[in-house]
Amino acid sequence: MGARTGQEYIERLAQTRPSVEINGERVAGPVTEHPALAGVVRSYAELYDLQHDPVLRDVLTCESPSSGERVGSSFLIPRTAQDLVRRRAGFKAWADHSLGTLGRTGDYLNSALMALSEAGDWFAQADPRFAGNIRAYCEMVREQDLLTTHTLIPPQANRAVGPAQQIDGRALGAHVVSQDADGILIRGARMLATIGPIADELLVFPSTVLRGTPEDAPYSFAFAINCDAQGLRFVCRENLDYGRRHPLGGRFDEIDAVVVFDDVRVPWERVFLLGRPELCNAFYTDTSAVVHMTHQVATRTTAKAEAFLGLASLITDAIGIEQFSHIQEDLAEMAVIVGVLHALVRAAEADASVNVYGVMTPAWEPLNTARNWFPKVSQRLPEIVRKFGASGLMAVPTEGDIAGSAGADIERYLQSAALQGPERVRLFRLAWDLSVSGFAGRQNLYEYYFFGDPVRMAGALLQATDREPYKQRVRAFLHRVSESEPVVA
Ligand SMILES: Cc1cc2nc3c(=O)[nH]c(=O)nc-3n(C[C@H](O)[C@H](O)[C@H](O)COP(=O)(O)OP(=O)(O)OC[C@H]3O[C@@H](n4cnc5c(N)ncnc54)[C@H](O)[C@@H]3O)c2cc1C
Repeated sequence: MGARTGQEYIERLAQTRPSVEINGERVAGPVTEHPALAGVVRSYAELYDLQHDPVLRDVLTCESPSSGERVGSSFLIPRTAQDLVRRRAGFKAWADHSLGTLGRTGDYLNSALMALSEAGDWFAQADPRFAGNIRAYCEMVREQDLLTTHTLIPPQANRAVGPAQQIDGRALGAHVVSQDADGILIRGARMLATIGPIADELLVFPSTVLRGTPEDAPYSFAFAINCDAQGLRFVCRENLDYGRRHPLGGRFDEIDAVVVFDDVRVPWERVFLLGRPELCNAFYTDTSAVVHMTHQVATRTTAKAEAFLGLASLITDAIGIEQFSHIQEDLAEMAVIVGVLHALVRAAEADASVNVYGVMTPAWEPLNTARNWFPKVSQRLPEIVRKFGASGLMAVPTEGDIAGSAGADIERYLQSAALQGPERVRLFRLAWDLSVSGFAGRQNLYEYYFFGDPVRMAGALLQATDREPYKQRVRAFLHRVSESEPVVA
């Protein structure tokens, strides 16, 4: 089959019946038609269509190593630094389509699957079958162009104790209840899966940040399950555009859902790791999956930072505020964020090296820097837009008002130095949806916690950073200075 069209993505999804609870009801028909989900489904379909756009086809697809079909370029196995540049061009083309606001486009986890599959032998140390399982699974996702999402962390009941000692000592987190000749049985919950209801497949993987101990064996696994598997339920938050067709919320609201496993059976061929906390802890690093995921994420966040700079610049033009020095300072801060992201991604590609599995792998230091830095600076971007837009972010009637009886007032009183009333309203409504609305609030939270708790990520970064050479240089300097200092009597 190879790279899908939007229609093919929608048709497959419409035939499935995942168990989805949203806005107080269980979705009865196809998720593709539910008002809270249809907008984001359409946007994902547009991304699949871009794979067949004559201009982007070679950017977004490549030749499959097994079937020769065109498949997503996020499956390209990089052998050279040029291949990494090619992969990044595909990430960027998709990310620009949503101004970087879609965080779970298929290329994110395709990148992880590509790396995990190439590191197949690593899985054999847990069970020889697992190496074949991960390779076959990755091939299936690639050849059928399936959309996957992941769920990593246990429910947030009591973070002071481990998964086995939650409320009343009951096991809340998804865990293995039993296993037999057919597979494993899973019960409990995972905290979140973004786009769970509109994805084809759910990857139930270890956390990228939390570290398991030997007692966590029943909670330690990596497997994949179809999103409409028997016993799997998605309990969603409410949708963020309230049916009002907000410029971003109406298109890109990647629904987040609690995932409940009500005795879900997972066949052996979909199990990749089981009961080995120490291997779960090393899952992403030993396989280089985290590096390829971060390469995609840093490219997406670059697209988002560029979009913020573009938007803020249009606002300053629209209302004539670019002459003020503090506005220039803030615009420059945004430009610096964009510049640093460009530099980190390029540095990671320039200093790439081949890993033990023969995969050209971006340098980790620049990408690790990006993933620790962006969660914090990402919070500044909407803050600057709010400062620039001020009351303009509340003077945002809808398209209905532009076309309706308020049209003349909008024409007259909402015009600006550079824009007609309706154009200015559309620009400020976009700014509102990226900096003030519920959609914007969720985006902030999403960027902050994207890779896990930044506090614990900082601790991990420190542990992974060899500071000894720098300490040594300072010690040597102190020694040199003290030797050359005249002794004061
Ligand atoms: C919009 C959104 C979408 C998401 N989508 C997904 C998804 O698709 N799949 C998925 O798996 N996850 C998803 N997540 C979850 C994300 O991985 C977590 O938010 C992140 O790992 C942090 O974990 P937590 O939310 O459980 O926070 P907690 O671990 O509960 O932390 C809460 C607070 O307590 C502090 N804290 C807790 N424990 C400790 C400790 N041991 N040491 C120090 N401080 C501590 C933290 O610093 C934090 O301030 C999503 C999150 C958001 C916000």
